Amino acid sequence: MQTINPNNIVKQGIAILGSTGSIGTQTLDVIEQYPDLFEVIAITSNNNWELLAAQAIKFNADCVVIANEEHYEKLTKALEQHPIKVYAGKKALEQVVTLQTVHCVVSALVGYAGLVPTIAAIESGKKIALANKETLVVAGEIVMKKAIEFKASVLPIDSEHSAIFQCLVGEHSSIDKIILTASGGPFYGYTSTQLEAVSLQQALKHPNWSMGKKITIDSSTMMNKGFEVIEAKWLFGVEVSDIDVFVHRNSVVHSMVQFSDGAVKAQLGAADMRQPIQYALTYPYRLPLNSKRLDFSGLNLRFLPADKDTFECLQLAYDAAELGGNMPCILNAANEV
Ligand code: NAD
Ligand code: MG
Repeated sequence: MQTINPNNIVKQGIAILGSTGSIGTQTLDVIEQYPDLFEVIAITSNNNWELLAAQAIKFNADCVVIANEEHYEKLTKALEQHPIKVYAGKKALEQVVTLQTVHCVVSALVGYAGLVPTIAAIESGKKIALANKETLVVAGEIVMKKAIEFKASVLPIDSEHSAIFQCLVGEHSSIDKIILTASGGPFYGYTSTQLEAVSLQQALKHPNWSMGKKITIDSSTMMNKGFEVIEAKWLFGVEVSDIDVFVHRNSVVHSMVQFSDGAVKAQLGAADMRQPIQYALTYPYRLPLNSKRLDFSGLNLRFLPADKDTFECLQLAYDAAELGGNMPCILNAANEV
């Protein structure tokens, strides 16, 4: 079988906002496989200066940013033998994404903190590989308008949105419906009374994905799925009333699109975030990836309606999106607190 010749792809300078997190480290795993295609220009962390220093040395980064200025001296000392520029503070996050050598910004901070540096990257016309869904939850309208104004493409990393994006490649028709799949999280099937007694440890045990703590908690409340409804609305220009959520416990179907003729396209695969990360970096090409392959023998694909009465956060997200304006931003703030 013929694969795309990686030499056809232009080498990209990459900035990773949040390189020490779950998405950030997996992005570096992808980059490590294709040193001829990617050059690490800037990487950032909030507190984890040790890992940031190790990553910078390994990938020969041009510069690093430690957002929490308290760690600046330790980081500077760790890198003193290397020609790597060290910056600190939130403003520096906004500055490194605009460097001329950066072509693609992987937006992988967690929470509201991702918004301002992502907007800075959009305003300098960079390609955005977007993991930070909160950017679209809190300011989707502004962000997508800016992306058009500054000709910055926004490619999803979130697995559901990458799935939808992959379903839309080659299509020229409008979307009839988006079907977002949800694992249901660790508390699937629980009643409201049972939910009153759950522990943090239980909430941090996601059945299918290994992710950062905040998104894992958001998955246990289904606020994550609610945010993904809002994220899909802005990325794909659909009304939230045309986005359905179905619980699909084994996360094999990552999401689906229904078209006006009734045809439905789905994207399936193993639960491995490196696939959507790599696709966002190499689109429109697919490159080999050593991810687990699906075994179809005996594969059971079940879909159940989401329980928005018990998992109220999901309903709140729909309501906030319908109300529009600042309401999704308020919802996000309440959730972060
Ligand atoms: P994480 O907590 O593992 O990593 C977050 C990164 O951001 C770290 O590098 C951290 O140092 C940095 N950071 C955190 N707070 C910061 C702040 N205030 N200022 C500057 N830097 C800060 O998070 P994650 O799981 O990688 O998630 C990142 C984003 O991707 C989230 O928006 C999440 O919803 C989204 N996402 C994650 C996954 C996943 O599999 N982890 C899947 C889909 C979407
Ligand atoms: Mg997701």
